[in-house]
Parts: sequence; structure tokens; C-alpha cells
Amino acid sequence: MTAAMTTPGIVIVGAGQAGVQTAEALRAGGYTGRITLLGDEPHGPYHRPPLSKAWLAGEMDAAQLVLRAPEMLARKGIELRTGVTVRRIDRATRTLQLADGGTLPYSGLVLATGATPRALPLPGADAEGVLPLRSRADASAIAGRMATCVAQDRPVVVIGGGFIGLEVAATARKKGARVTVLEAAPRLLGRVLAPVLSDWYADLHRRHGVRLVFDAQVAGIEADAGGVHGVRLADGSVLPAGLVVVGIGVAANDVLAREAGLACERGIVVDACGRTSDPAIVAAGDCTARRLPDGSLLRLESVQNATEQGKSAAAALLGQERPFTTTPWFWSDQYDRKLQMAGLSAGADAWAVRGDMAAGGFSVYHFQGERLLAVDSVNAARDHLQARKLLDAGLSPTPWQAGDVAFDLGQLLKA
Ligand code: FAD
Ligand code: NAP
Repeated sequence: MTAAMTTPGIVIVGAGQAGVQTAEALRAGGYTGRITLLGDEPHGPYHRPPLSKAWLAGEMDAAQLVLRAPEMLARKGIELRTGVTVRRIDRATRTLQLADGGTLPYSGLVLATGATPRALPLPGADAEGVLPLRSRADASAIAGRMATCVAQDRPVVVIGGGFIGLEVAATARKKGARVTVLEAAPRLLGRVLAPVLSDWYADLHRRHGVRLVFDAQVAGIEADAGGVHGVRLADGSVLPAGLVVVGIGVAANDVLAREAGLACERGIVVDACGRTSDPAIVAAGDCTARRLPDGSLLRLESVQNATEQGKSAAAALLGQERPFTTTPWFWSDQYDRKLQMAGLSAGADAWAVRGDMAAGGFSVYHFQGERLLAVDSVNAARDHLQARKLLDAGLSPTPWQAGDVAFDLGQLLKA
């Protein structure tokens, strides 16, 4: 055994996308000490995105959902321990307290604890059949109840017209359920999409038979011994429902960090390298809020963010600088449409559409003045890849150039 193997090594709390990435990046970066990956779920690491898509539709088997098989992690010298919940961090002694009463020392600590769905703060929200979607267990519960709804022709109501809500609505329609989406805002995905694209998505869902209610004010859940049977709105009307899926956003899992005295503000505050306010502790993924050079905080909840922050956090523990500063990107699959988003559109005041919205393959370019902020592409993978390059390089076409399919945006990159 090497000297490195006799030290406590690095412990990672959270065996999701960010935790796995950090563990692998530590090994790839030459770390030879012990790596322990702790997860509180019963399963080994799995892909979350299919939980609202192919997995929920029953189109994937368990093997395809696996993110990293335990044997593969073991081959890399990463010790995976599932069903283990960390309760407390003692920074003075560099020790973790576990829910089963055990303790675990660390020399370096990675917090990759993810996020928790926001609960509906309303009467009846804890009724059977009112379900969030975050974990494999949540997806199984939704799939079971959805199948019953289809068999008994009972409606599914989705609260929240964000990513979870819309992907679940699309999948539920695919399974033959009657679906209503209740959105508190006046349009779908209002915080991220341009109004023209929100309208396009509303049209897409309506064409697939989804009923959309905007400016919805949910007042309560109606339930009896059989579980949920309706959603009450503020105007007193009740929508019948055999299943209610709640997708109204998430909150970062930062309790461990907060209780340990680390800086937290809407998440564990990290710099671009994943460093927290304790040099022995880094954090990555949905649990973080990144401090930007202008002092503001950026919270991203995506696979790319978990992956890139994981790599940065591993480098930081190895004493290297690897800031995550590339353009953020996301995707969402609804029906046969793949939405790919590059950049951050907050603050946009002008938009240009490239391609044919009616044909369904197009991109929306977000501008602030003349500066390109973000590009949302629907079934237009080439535009998306080009947009990431433009944004990474800080290059902006004019809105006119962006909207003109005859203008080759690739020219800007070559120049
Ligand atoms: P997680 O994957 O949530 O992992 C954190 C893990 O830590 C969890 O297993 C949690 O149980 C565990 N944990 C927490 N506290 C403790 C503790 N005290 N002790 C031990 N373990 C603990 N992103 C995209 O970019 N594209 C998509 O299409 C997309 N689709 C999605 C669909 C769904 C249904 C969901 C839920 C998310 C989707 N996302 C998508 C978001 C993406 O999956 C997340 O951003 C990503 O998984 C975050 O990874 P993470 O490692 O930070 O957190
Ligand atoms: P989200 O994208 O933040 O969307 C939540 C939506 O619910 C918002 O439109 C919000 O409106 C609305 N809402 C909030 N309170 C409401 C209420 N009481 N009644 C009706 N509507 C309400 O969050 P999410 O869809 O729950 O997704 C959760 C997490 O999963 C996020 O981290 C997300 O990134 C991730 N995810 C990502 C993808 C993807 O990238 N493709 C897919 C699925 C999930 P306001 O904006 O007005 O508050």
C-alpha cells in the first residue's frame, strides 16, 4: 500500500452526475489516494434526464439508465457506497457523520448533493398521487400511477410549465393520458425562452392534445382515501385528476454545507473552479451557486454544468486551476423535437429567427442590443454547435445576419 492509500483520501457526497465526474476526473488527473463516493439512493449512479422522457415512457431498460456501473468505478479504484446518508460535516476534525451512526474521515471533501424538488405549499399536497420527479423512485411511482390513469381514463394534471412539466406532459400524451398543464406565468418556460418560442411550444403541445392553462393559481389538492382526485384553482373550479405531477423548480441541497458554516446563498457558493469557502472542500453540480466576477450568483441545473464543475472541482483539489467558463448548454426532448439551448438569455431585448418555424427546424437568436447572448435551436443541431462556438469566441452576428439563412454564420468563425 502506498503512503497515499493510508491517508483518509477524498470523500465525495452524492453519487450523481457531478459526483461521478469528480471522482473520475481525480483519477484522470493523477490522484492515487483513496476515493470514496457516497450516495443515499439505493441504486448506483444513473442518468436523470431519461426519467421524464424514454424511461418514463417505458422505452429504456435498467441497464441503459446506468451512468457508471459499480464494477467500472471499482476498476478505477473508486469505492462506491450506496444507501449511505451523510448527516453532518465536522470541519475541525475533517470527519463526516453518517446517518447509520458511523463516521468517515476525509482529507479532501467534494459536495455533489444535487437538488430537491420544491413542494407545493398547499393543503392536500401530500396526498397519494401528488408526485415530484427527481429520482428513479419518483419516476417509477409516476409511471405506475400514469398507467392506472390511462387504463381508467382519468386525467393527469401537471403543475408547472417548465422542463419537467413539459417533458412529462409529452410523455403522458405518448402513453395515451389526458393531460392538463397548469402554469403560473403567462407563457411556457418564460424565464428561458423568447416569447416567440414559448408560443411555438404552446402550439406544439396543443397540437398533441395537451390542455394548457396560463396564469394558473393552484389553491389546493382534493383527495380522499384513494388519493388525489382533483386540483382546485383559486377561482373555485376543480380539475379532475388521477395523478398530479409537480414540477415547480428545485432548491439546492446545501443544508450540510450551511450547517458546517460554508458560505451558501441559494446553493453552496463556489468560484469558477468549484472552490468553497473552505480550502479542503469543493462542490459541483445542482447544489452550487457560482459567484461571477461581477459579484452576482449563477445557478445552473444541467448535465453539462455538473460535468464541467466536477472536472473543475477535481482539478482544484489537485491544486490546479481549471475554471469552468465555457458557454452553458442544455437540451430538452418533447415529442419528436429536440430543443438545444446555448448561452444564457436573461437580459435579451431583441430576437431573430433563423429557419422555418412552421417546418419545425429553426433557431432563435437572443440579443442584448447587438450582442449575441444565447441561441435556442429546435431540430437544428448544426445551428446549436455553431452557436456554442460563436458564444465561446465572443462573436456576434448582427440580428439581420442571424435571421438570414443565406448568410453563412460560419464565416464569422473563419474570420
Ligand atoms: P444529482 O444527479 O441530483 O445527484 C446528487 C445525489 O446526491 C443524489 O443521488 C442525492 O440523493 C445524493 N445526496 C444528496 N444529499 C446526500 C447526502 N447527505 N448523503 C448522501 N447522498 C446525498 N439536464 C439536462 O441538461 N438535460 C436534460 O434533458 C435534463 N433532464 C432532466 C430530467 C429530469 C427528470 C431531471 C430530474 C433532471 C434533468 N436534468 C436535465 C437535470 C440534470 O439531471 C441535473 O442537472 C444533474 O443530474 C445534476 O447532477 P448532480 O450530480 O448535481 O445532482
Ligand atoms: P423549472 O424549469 O424551474 O420550471 C418550473 C415552472 O413551474 C416555471 O415555469 C414556474 O413558473 C412554474 N411554477 C412555479 N410555481 C408554480 C405554481 N405554484 N403553479 C404553477 N406553476 C408554477 O423547474 P422544473 O421544470 O421543475 O425542473 C426542475 C429541475 O429539473 C431543474 O433543475 C431543471 O433544469 C431540471 N430539468 C431539466 C431538463 C432539461 O434541461 N431538459 C428537463 C427536466 C428537468 P415561474 O418561472 O414563473 O416561477
